[in-house]
Amino acid sequence: MKPVMVVGGGISGIQAALDLADQGIKVYLVEKTPSIGGRMAQLDKTFPTLDCSSCILTPKMVEVARHENIEILAYSEVLEINGEAGNFKVKVRKKPRYVDVTKCTGCGVCMKYCPSKVPDEFNLGLSERKAIYIPFPQAIPLKATIDAEHCLWFQKNICRNCEKFCPAKAIDYEQKPEDIELNVAAIIFATGYELIADHSLLTDQYGYGRYANVYTNLEFERLVSATGPTGGEILRRSDGRKPKNIAFIQCVCSRDIRMNPNCSSICCMASVKEGILVREHHPDIEVTIFYMDLRAFGKGYQEFYDRAKEEFGIRFVRSKPATIVENPETKNLILYYEDTHASRYKAEEFEMVVLAVGVKPVVPDSFVPIGEDMFAQVKDPYLDPVASPKPGIYVIGMLNSPKDIPDSVIQGSAAAMKASILACKS
Ligand SMILES: Cc1cc2nc3c(=O)[nH]c(=O)nc-3n(C[C@H](O)[C@H](O)[C@H](O)COP(=O)(O)OP(=O)(O)OC[C@H]3O[C@@H](n4cnc5c(N)ncnc54)[C@H](O)[C@@H]3O)c2cc1C
Repeated sequence: MKPVMVVGGGISGIQAALDLADQGIKVYLVEKTPSIGGRMAQLDKTFPTLDCSSCILTPKMVEVARHENIEILAYSEVLEINGEAGNFKVKVRKKPRYVDVTKCTGCGVCMKYCPSKVPDEFNLGLSERKAIYIPFPQAIPLKATIDAEHCLWFQKNICRNCEKFCPAKAIDYEQKPEDIELNVAAIIFATGYELIADHSLLTDQYGYGRYANVYTNLEFERLVSATGPTGGEILRRSDGRKPKNIAFIQCVCSRDIRMNPNCSSICCMASVKEGILVREHHPDIEVTIFYMDLRAFGKGYQEFYDRAKEEFGIRFVRSKPATIVENPETKNLILYYEDTHASRYKAEEFEMVVLAVGVKPVVPDSFVPIGEDMFAQVKDPYLDPVASPKPGIYVIGMLNSPKDIPDSVIQGSAAAMKASILACKS
């Protein structure tokens, strides 16, 4: 029985890996960043139950780490795939961490003495990390990584503090990339998503990047999180003050034929959740959600929306936002919009704005064909929704199409089942 490879260590890839491994199939879990966990690790609470995201995710990550049939290849990337269903040869590059993972204990002393600071991608740039870092406290594997681009030793031949202070003597500046070839029966791609945060519309129309108090919804997840840059305090970027009111704007860079006609499917519930979190933390902050139409399609989602209105007093305005203009003195934001319910043009001032930005898949090079909708092509959207047109290759989670965590998990299990058939035959 040949192993199976899962590429992408977010929740969908984790689920696929666990289901395969529990059947006795060896799994290589390839993750390009230093830790598995994906976006779910960055979320604060999850809709519709408001469970703490990392409290649900961390036990699964630990299960992956402890599973005898799973080999995690973190900080690694697929370079080449040859062969066919049942017998793929995959070349994987293990990137150098410049840290010997067999010695590193994850104690974090190196980070304390590293003088070089860079924007922390886990907190979406809302805070800084060191050039030697562990992405988040629950990271798996819990090993440090040197970001050579920002390390003073690699850039200027000075420092070496991490080497001096590492109690485990784990620093190894001489590490090189290591290429390995693996023979697997099937490959499951679960490379997830990113926000369409680089579109000019975001800057021009909504002032993102120009106005300090405009945030994306993922940034807001970190802002409201107890493990985030402000310890969960909702504080404005401009003056560190708690806002009196917050506007959430839906369908930004999505359902818009100018750049992305797709519905991102999770934004409605994400904003409802974030609005509830605001009201839970600070009942005095007023929350308004500007929406085109609300999609509450999942189990418990309609009830969640009803609670937001009735129990938490969130205001919902059916509207078409036109533009945002900043008051240069107060850094408050004036939102101009059409109230499509009242058929009126209106302007309202807010102290913070959160944009529910559309999502796009992280495409794993040319290994999976992409459809007209930007997401991975599937063989049959009705009867084989996780199979790519290439036999033996499966596409799941947000790479497949926009979806929430429960649907990502379902696809993880579905692809594990399909891949296990090939593994058992090989
Ligand atoms: C603001 C916001 C709030 C949300 N809140 C909720 C919520 O409350 N409840 C809910 O159900 N859903 C929520 N979601 C949706 C949720 O984030 C996704 O459903 C879920 O993360 C999808 O998991 P995934 O495994 O498909 O992708 P991801 O979580 O994106 O994981 C993909 C993984 O693949 C890795 N990767 C990428 N490229 C490569 C490569 N080439 N090689 C190897 N690895 C690679 C990435 O580093 C990452 O670890 C929210 C989304 C947003 C934007």
